[in-house]
Amino acid sequence: MTTIKNGHDKYVMVRAPNEYPGRRYHNGLYCYEHHLNYWNLHGIVPGPKEVIHHKDGNKRNNADGNLELISRVAHSIAHAAERRAILLSLPMPHGTINAYKRGCRCSNCRAENAKQCREYRWRVGIRTKGRPRGSPGHSSNWEKE
Ligand SMILES: [Zn+2]
Ligand SMILES: [Zn+2]
Repeated sequence: MTTIKNGHDKYVMVRAPNEYPGRRYHNGLYCYEHHLNYWNLHGIVPGPKEVIHHKDGNKRNNADGNLELISRVAHSIAHAAERRAILLSLPMPHGTINAYKRGCRCSNCRAENAKQCREYRWRVGIRTKGRPRGSPGHSSNWEKE
């Protein structure tokens, strides 16, 4: 068994048997172990719009129960949900605008975001309504109020 670094993901690569119909790499000698395992068990290789997903997120765990053939679309949805779950499990001070910006939509973070929006509109509203246009003499009055 050989491990070849493939981009930043480390998938396990193995020698491809002659009869293997799936995608081959490195002069056609190697293939992904998870593809080969799936093919051995189910007789299917992923098509151009399909991927073999590692259910536990560990790309080196190529045991049968961990492999799942799904569409590319379903796959990116699964991983987006996973990233969101990881994000939400990180310690994060809720009720802060930073947590909101990091994607948290709990009631405390939503309330803080709404509060900041109101404050922002209030500041902008004061400036546009209260600015004395073309009368710089009155600007000191405006600033005191
Ligand atoms: Zn996956
Ligand atoms: Zn939150």
